[in-house]
Amino acid sequence: MFQGLNFPPLDLPPECTEIRAEIRAFLAEERKLGNAKNIEAMSRYTPEYSERLGKAGFIGLTWPKKYGGHERSALERYVVTEEMLSAGAPTGCHWIADRQSGPLILKFGTEEQRETILPKIAAGEAYFCIGMSEPNSGSDLASVQTKATKTDGGWLLNGTKLWTSGAHISHYMIALVRTSPLDEKDRHAGFSQMIIDMKSPGLEISPVINLSGDHHFNEEVFTDCFVPDEMVVGEVGNGWNQVMSELGYERSGPERFLSTFQLFAELVDAVGDDPSDHEAQVIGRLAAQLIVLRQMSLSVAGMLGQGLVPANEASIVKDLGTNYCKLVPDLSRSIMAAMPSQRSSISYEATLASAILTVPSLTIQGGSREILRGVIARGLGMR
Ligand SMILES: Cc1cc2nc3c(=O)[nH]c(=O)nc-3n(C[C@H](O)[C@H](O)[C@H](O)COP(=O)(O)OP(=O)(O)OC[C@H]3O[C@@H](n4cnc5c(N)ncnc54)[C@H](O)[C@@H]3O)c2cc1C
Repeated sequence: MFQGLNFPPLDLPPECTEIRAEIRAFLAEERKLGNAKNIEAMSRYTPEYSERLGKAGFIGLTWPKKYGGHERSALERYVVTEEMLSAGAPTGCHWIADRQSGPLILKFGTEEQRETILPKIAAGEAYFCIGMSEPNSGSDLASVQTKATKTDGGWLLNGTKLWTSGAHISHYMIALVRTSPLDEKDRHAGFSQMIIDMKSPGLEISPVINLSGDHHFNEEVFTDCFVPDEMVVGEVGNGWNQVMSELGYERSGPERFLSTFQLFAELVDAVGDDPSDHEAQVIGRLAAQLIVLRQMSLSVAGMLGQGLVPANEASIVKDLGTNYCKLVPDLSRSIMAAMPSQRSSISYEATLASAILTVPSLTIQGGSREILRGVIARGLGMR
């Protein structure tokens, strides 16, 4: 049966105005240091920026104070995130740890893991990467083959992970591995999650250069890599449920529609104060879609903050948001002719080139468009 969608309107509470002023003041200082205006800011790695952000109290915002957090609300975190991304600040180093590894450890980790790792994340000193995909396992994550075999005091890992964002700068990976053999009757059974120290013997990390010529993701080969028992996250065998809960943190945030915001800002500057009717129409269309997406995303954030699980609405925000990010370079080019080049000294041309080379990845990472639409159709009772 068809089930409806629900996007209740949300007005941000007064504490969000306060924290917006605080993060804007912080970002104004960072802008002076050149830490701004990045396309896809979550893939830009500047450790000093993350450390200063941590010291200023903007990482681990919602976590308990006893683990280095700041006990602020999910909506306050939303405001900090949207301000950082719309400024184009280089959030790559702490991004995954703050968004999903920390919350995962908080939810499923041991007390020792929480006490030792979370304060380092909140200080902007510990970075994480996600070890889910493999050479033959992407959309069909249940086909993951990296194997963990029990040994004295821990596990021996063998296998390969691929497309791992930021593995080369991370201190830890949370890997999804098989701890018991595949059972065709229940393909989701037998998985576990483990925290892997990226300096472990038996782990080899190689770069995979992306379309823009950047070193963003990597391949990791594990050969009898030892992981102590204390580094297992949650229950052995419960990895699938944990991973699904982790993916929930990935969808619907402002990153899903702000990846090309810098180009939109450059376009508005380049068009100037006296646009033609056509230019005004295009800018109006991009602005209107952005405003609607932000309202939808805020609505999802509000529901998550109330403990609800708006999985369909979150998936729709990701699908529409990433398509919007693709529309920005297309429409920009239609009104502002330019020779896109990452090496251009003209800011609009350089930003346009980065956007064109970045957008193809947006509808693949975090679950491809086809998979996401299947999830939405199932959630709506249509399949
Ligand atoms: C920029 C970027 C960063 C990434 N970072 C990470 C990371 O940090 N950690 C990590 O683990 N992974 C990461 N990934 C990997 C990403 O999660 C996978 O690329 C994605 O899940 C798709 O898997 P795949 O590449 O194996 O493609 P495949 O699964 O082989 O899919 C290929 C195509 O077939 C389509 N397809 C597949 N199955 C179906 C189906 N049943 N029905 C309809 N269509 C289907 C897909 O939609 C896609 O278009 C990243 C990817 C990108 C692009």
